[in-house]
This record gives sequence, C-alpha cells and structure tokens, in this order.
Amino acid sequence: MQRTRSVFKCPLFGDVCEMKENVLPTYEDVMKYYEWTRHQLKLQLETAKEPIFGEIADIVTSRVEKIWQTASIPTVTRTRIVQMLKAYHLKCKNLLKSIKRLSPDKLNSFQQSSKILFDISACKCKEFAQCICPKDKKVPKLEQPFLTDQRTTRVMVICGIDVTATKKLQKTLKRKHERENRQNTSTLADLNVSTSSATSSESEKQESSMIINVIEKKIKKSTLNFPTLSKICDRYGVSDRAAAAIASSVLFDIGSDVEIVILALGFIL
Ligand SMILES: [Zn+2]
Repeated sequence: MQRTRSVFKCPLFGDVCEMKENVLPTYEDVMKYYEWTRHQLKLQLETAKEPIFGEIADIVTSRVEKIWQTASIPTVTRTRIVQMLKAYHLKCKNLLKSIKRLSPDKLNSFQQSSKILFDISACKCKEFAQCICPKDKKVPKLEQPFLTDQRTTRVMVICGIDVTATKKLQKTLKRKHERENRQNTSTLADLNVSTSSATSSESEKQESSMIINVIEKKIKKSTLNFPTLSKICDRYGVSDRAAAAIASSVLFDIGSDVEIVILALGFIL
C-alpha cells in the first residue's frame, strides 16, 4: 500500500526520513527517524492503531547506538538514551498541540535548536585534555576531533574504514606471516600442518603455500654444489662475485634460472 508523500511529513521537521549513517545524529535527525519508523511500523501492521512509544524507541535507540559504535565513541547506557528520547519526544508532542498558535519565530528557533547533536557520549567533557572520566568512558584520542566537530560545526563524516583497526589488523597479519616464515624455514616437514589450520582463510592458505614453495625451491637449489667451479675460480684468483656472475651468464645462456644460480654460488663459494 503506497501512501502519499504528505503522510510522511512532520509539522515540526518537514519530510521524515531514514537516518544518515556517516554522521552522528542531531535531535532533528532522531525525531525524523522516529517519525519514519512510526510510519513504517504502521504500514507493516496495516493498522490505523498507533505503535507504542517503547516499540518505536527500541528501533530508534538501537540505530543511534549503532552509529556511535561505528564512530568508536563510548555512549551512555541504553536506559539513559531512551530517557533522552522520551523527554524530547514529549517536548515535540506538546509543541505540536499548540503548533497553530505558535509564532513563526518560535517555530524557527525550535527548529534551529534541534540541529544540535543528540549527544549520548559517555564523556561530556568539552576539553578532552582535562577529561578525568573512567577509561571505558573516555573518547579515544583519534575520535576526539570528530566528536568536537559533531558537537559544533558538523562538517566531518564517519569514514568507511577504521584506520586504527585496519593498521592493527595489518600488523597482526604481518607478524603472523613472519612467524609462519620462520616456522617454514626451520621445519619444512611440517609445512602442510601450519597451512591447513582451521583459522586460516582460503587466500591466506594460498599465500602461505606460495611462500613455502619459494623457500623449498631456494633450499633445494642452494644445496646444489659447484666444487669444480669453486676450485677453478680459486686457482685463477676469480672473486666470488665474478665467479657468480660468470656462472650465472653461462647457465642463463643454457636456459637456467639466473637468480637462483647467484644465490647458490654465493652459498658455496
Ligand atoms: Zn571525559
């Protein structure tokens, strides 16, 4: 059942809509989403009966909490958020009752005041440098400029990628690979065990087995011996470097793998 656009208009805030996910919502955003949710619930249930506050608040609160979580900023309790929502909802409801008698100036100033952040941050400190909130309530240093922005000028947006988390993840993966490399070098016999671990993803497995192949190749090749070449080079006073270069070019000409040859010669000379 398609309703007309006017049904979704709120006399206080205009068109009601979904909530943006890349900014922390203002009071206006929250109320528009509240109204949007109310309409959605009514449409779903196909009834003229009004959904109750608790039902709508539950959806709205979860959504607001999720956005703050994305921004990695600790929030007040859920109960407190519902209380904030209830208080503001009541304020709007009372205003709506007298909207016909409301002067344009008054309506305008109310609308302006609703454009401030629906601030559910656990830390209310304006100066983060002086924040003495408990550790779990502190705003992470990286997020402090963002929260300040959202409380004031509101020009920043939440990035799709969490830089800190990404860096941490990259470090962990690097360490994992280094550890695997060390294990692979020392125990070639156990190679298959470490690559088939249950936690490894398919691409990680592939990468690991590629590294293992290279190591295996190098170790096999480096055991190649060139005793005669060594002796001849010693006899004619050819340096290791020159010997490696000469041998490499010879083997290259006959179609062998130059890089490995240099490595092998360096190993035995
Ligand atoms: Zn604080």
